[in-house]
Amino acid sequence: MSIAEERIDRLHELAREAASNRDHERAREYVRLARRVAERNRCGLPKEFRRFACDECDAYLRPGVNARIRTRAGGHVVVRCDCGATKRYPY
Ligand SMILES: [Zn+2]
Repeated sequence: MSIAEERIDRLHELAREAASNRDHERAREYVRLARRVAERNRCGLPKEFRRFACDECDAYLRPGVNARIRTRAGGHVVVRCDCGATKRYPY
């Protein structure tokens, strides 16, 4: 694992913690920082991180806290951020 990937991993943890504590502004800062690190190193965010980072407002999505998750027929999941943005992915 590269240093960039390790940093992103750490930022992911911090974002998750902050979101759990409902400190959403701080969580956003970690998400943005991770995006910047990923961009600079051209490694992209890990899939798991992308799933929980809102593309619209950079919130770190915690189901039941600031996001709703619904399972749809056809084998995909819809995650809705409090800002109204949705993302869907297969599971
Ligand atoms: Zn959002």
